[in-house]
Amino acid sequence: MKYELIKLPYELNALEPVMSQKTLEFHWGKHLQAYVNNLNKLIEGTPFENEPLDVIIAKAEGPLFNNAGQVLNHNMFFQQFSAKGGGAPKGKLAEKINATWGSFENFQKEFTTAAAGLFGSGWTWLAREKDGSLIITKEANGSNPVARGLVPILGFDVWEHAYYLDYQNRRPDFLQELWKITDWDIIEERY
Ligand code: MN
Repeated sequence: MKYELIKLPYELNALEPVMSQKTLEFHWGKHLQAYVNNLNKLIEGTPFENEPLDVIIAKAEGPLFNNAGQVLNHNMFFQQFSAKGGGAPKGKLAEKINATWGSFENFQKEFTTAAAGLFGSGWTWLAREKDGSLIITKEANGSNPVARGLVPILGFDVWEHAYYLDYQNRRPDFLQELWKITDWDIIEERY
């Protein structure tokens, strides 16, 4: 089985000005495509050939772990945004966030602080633990919470390639803007 570049559920300019068409052309069209191509080369003729991404990530190491992780990370990242995003979660996820962090605003603050403070390249995720509790994780490079048996729900990419064209070195500004396109209807389904 060959992995394929996911189709975006919106036009390339749909997320402007938060995320420009130029950024998507590079980030989705070039960076993610490269991870997909590398992953396909690495699994060819191995027992991983027909495994889903979460299984590969749980078992693999080195380049295979990194590329499978980055394919899953970006597939989830690009599919969690929409032009009608923003606002706050509703329902069960909102209740759990409030019970864990006191308020949605406080959760956003903690999440953004974790992402802004992550040293080097990586990701910040909201993830669900086996007992149902929520946790904010910092992942280095291409890792994902599924590597530790957690369920990833919302992920912000803090590799420079995610924001440099639009925000240059202003990572905190990029993170603040991402909330405006984050679609909580999609996030809620993952929870
Ligand atoms: Mn990226």
